[in-house]
Amino acid sequence: MSKSPQITAIKGMNDILPPVSARWEWLEQAVRRVMAGFAYRNARTPIMEHTQLFTRGLGEVTDIVEKEMYSFQDRQDKHGDADHLSLRPEGTAGLVRAVAEHNLLYDGGKRLFYMGPMFRRERPQRGRYRQFHQIGAEALGFAGPEVDAELILLAVALWRELGLTNWRLELNSLGQPEERREHRAALIAYFEQHADQLDEDARRRLHTNPLRILDTKNPAMQALAEGAPRLIDHLGEASRKHFDAVRAVLDANGIAYTINPRLVRGLDYYNLTVFEFVTEALGAQGTICGGGRYDYLIEQIGGKGAPAVGWALGVERVLELLQEEGVQVPEPVPDAYAVIPDATALPAVMRCLQALRAEGVAVQMHAGAGEGMGSMKSQFKRADASGARFALIFGADELAAGELTLKALRDGSGAQSRVSLADVAGWAARLKSTD
Ligand code: ATP
Ligand code: MG
Repeated sequence: MSKSPQITAIKGMNDILPPVSARWEWLEQAVRRVMAGFAYRNARTPIMEHTQLFTRGLGEVTDIVEKEMYSFQDRQDKHGDADHLSLRPEGTAGLVRAVAEHNLLYDGGKRLFYMGPMFRRERPQRGRYRQFHQIGAEALGFAGPEVDAELILLAVALWRELGLTNWRLELNSLGQPEERREHRAALIAYFEQHADQLDEDARRRLHTNPLRILDTKNPAMQALAEGAPRLIDHLGEASRKHFDAVRAVLDANGIAYTINPRLVRGLDYYNLTVFEFVTEALGAQGTICGGGRYDYLIEQIGGKGAPAVGWALGVERVLELLQEEGVQVPEPVPDAYAVIPDATALPAVMRCLQALRAEGVAVQMHAGAGEGMGSMKSQFKRADASGARFALIFGADELAAGELTLKALRDGSGAQSRVSLADVAGWAARLKSTD
């Protein structure tokens, strides 16, 4: 038979395998601790949604909806109808749909978080993938600036829990739709005056989404964008007060930020507060977390209107930043490695290992790679490589006496002692890691 060509993963979609997967789990556990500290609860929504949720929710002329979504038509049902479906490019729209669909706000606001894969058909590069992962926090049903501030404090608490220091916070206010309309008109007028300096992207956006021109990554247009009318100068009294209240909480907590009047975010649904956490350590893909208030999204996707605010962080980028900053992440190792010279002992040995695990000891059992269990020498080599602090030696002598030998592998002593197979609970605690 000729060898079949190897099948590989899809470009821009990564396998997350040991030992790297341990770093993911470590991060997720830190997230769960911090979320619990702020009383945010976990929510899980499907990875696929009706395409309409995103076209309506994120805006027809956003990059994501225009060119980055994985969309397809489902098979026809028996009436000949077929759904238009998309892999989710972000998590907020699905969560908001779920909240509205299940009337979750009937008894007041909810604080939720999610983690999971998202899909965008972008050009894969450092910090930018086609399947990537977000962790998001959303507070729904709360209108006040204190919740905007709480969400920023939540993100800061997470950076601290992870040991990240190389980040800074950028803040802006997008005001309310009415204020944005005024600003939009001023923007269009400004860019029309300088039409000769607009690149193709900007010309396309001029009448659909001029705010996004401010977000241009084209160096040739930076100066033009810098000089554009600032939304922050068009804010009314209420919007300004909201913004000032958020800032007062950050100031009181000693959290430094810069106001970036050009911070607009990639999605259409934001109003009032928007923010990003950025780092200089990751090159061009320096935004590790972004969010803001989206008081009109729930209504826009057909739910009963309710205010909301949230953020999402990019897990791959945060993990890369941890690496760049040299944050040590503990590698999981078993407490003990079971060395088993003779396969005939396996039933009794495995009973003992079960009892040990029930006592909370992490045990890796030696398993043969070919015929039989392999030599003692090769088993001890494996025991060393496993990182375990103890070897459990189930030799014929030991078993005949109803015992096994514990051998210290890591403290340099090589100390050995015999313990009873019948009394696992009597010595199991000795094997457990104390840190
Ligand atoms: P960018 O400007 O980098 O494209 P964005 O504004 O599209 O980011 P959001 O939609 O706000 O990003 O998503 C929140 C976070 O998710 C980003 O700050 C980033 O950390 C991460 N992220 C977004 N797109 C990707 C991707 N394709 N690959 C990896 N991480 C991503
Ligand atoms: Mg993007």
